[in-house]
Amino acid sequence: MNQKILVLSEKHGSKLKNVTIEALTAAKQMKKQAGRIVALCLGTYTEDQIKQLAEYGADQVIIAEDESLNVFTTDTYTDVLYQVIKEENPDIILMGHTGEGKDLAPRVAARLGIGLISDVTAINFENGEIIFTRPIYSGKAFQKKKVIEGKTFATIRPNNIPMEEPDLTRTVDATYISTKIYHNRINVNEIVQKATEGIDLSEAKIVISGGRGMKGQEGFILLKELATVLGGAVGASRGACDADYCDYSLQIGQTGKIVTPDLYIACGISGAIQHVAGMSNSKMIIAINKDSEAPIFSIADYGIVGDVFEVVPALIEAFRSV
Ligand code: FAD
Repeated sequence: MNQKILVLSEKHGSKLKNVTIEALTAAKQMKKQAGRIVALCLGTYTEDQIKQLAEYGADQVIIAEDESLNVFTTDTYTDVLYQVIKEENPDIILMGHTGEGKDLAPRVAARLGIGLISDVTAINFENGEIIFTRPIYSGKAFQKKKVIEGKTFATIRPNNIPMEEPDLTRTVDATYISTKIYHNRINVNEIVQKATEGIDLSEAKIVISGGRGMKGQEGFILLKELATVLGGAVGASRGACDADYCDYSLQIGQTGKIVTPDLYIACGISGAIQHVAGMSNSKMIIAINKDSEAPIFSIADYGIVGDVFEVVPALIEAFRSV
C-alpha cells in the first residue's frame, strides 16, 4: 500500500503560514519512495497559494471550498477534517501547533480514536523509525516519541523545522470537494484585527517583548519602534497584559503564545517560570533589565543591566544607522 501524508494548510492573510511550509518539509522527509503528500485547504485558496503548496512538496491539493470555512470555527473545521481523513485514509497527518491546530487536533484524534503527538519541535529517523521530539514540563525537558501502531498524527511547533527551498517548477491540480457540516454552534459576526496585525507573533523570526518594566502603553510604542526597525513582532509578559500596557494577544508564556524566534529581546521582564515556558527555546535571548539579579538573565545569551528607557532608544538609533 502506498504511503499517504496529509498536511492541513493554514493561511495568515493572503500568505501561507510558515508552519504549513515547515509541515510540508517534514512530510517530504517522512515520505517514502512511493509516498504521496496531500495538502488539505479549508476555505478559498488562490491559484498562487495552491502553486506554493506544490512548490513546497504537495503532490495533491484538496480544497473544501465551502464559504462557511473561510472563517475558522472549531465545529466546522473538525467536521470537515474528520471527513477528509476518513475518506483519504492517510498514514500520517501533520498540522501546525497553532491556535487552530491545538484546537482541532485533539478533537479529531479523539473522534478517530487515534493518538496524537503534539507540539513537535524536531523529527529524526532511527533505524527506519520516525522519532518525534516534544518539550515537557514547560520546556525544561524533552521527550522522544514514536508511533508503534496505527496512524501517525502530529502537530508541529512553528519555527522549529527548517523550511526547504521551494521547487518552482512543481505544479499540481487542485481537487475541489464538497463536505457536509453536521453541526455548527458558532456564528462569527465580526473579526476585529488586534495588535498582532502584520507579522504573526508565533512565526516571527525576531520578537521584542515587554514586561511590567515598560511602565505603560507608551513603553510599548517604543518596543513597536524597535520591532519595526528590526522587522520583528512585539510580544509581552502577562504582567504587562494584566496592567493593560498592551493587548492579551501579545502574551507569551504558559497561558499565552509559544514562540521560538531566532532572536528574543526581553525588555523589563523578570523571567517568571510561566513566561519562560513560552520563549525559552528561542535561538538567541537578550535580556534588558535594571535588576542584575532578575531570573531572566539565567536563560539569556546576552544580558544588558540597565534602564529600558535608555537602552531601547539607543538600540533603535544604533540599528537605524546600519
Ligand atoms: P515583573 O515580575 O513585575 O517584572 C518586571 C521586571 O521589570 C523586573 O524584573 C524589574 O527589575 C524590571 N524593570 C522595572 N523597571 C525597569 C526599567 N526601567 N528598566 C529595566 N527593567 C525594569 N506570565 C507570562 O508572562 N506569561 C504567561 O503565560 C503566564 N501564565 C501564568 C499562568 C499562571 C497560572 C500564573 C499563576 C502566572 C502566569 N504568569 C504568566 C505570570 C507570571 O507568574 C509573572 O507574574 C509575570 O510573567 C510577570 O511579568 P513581568 O516580568 O512583566 O513583571
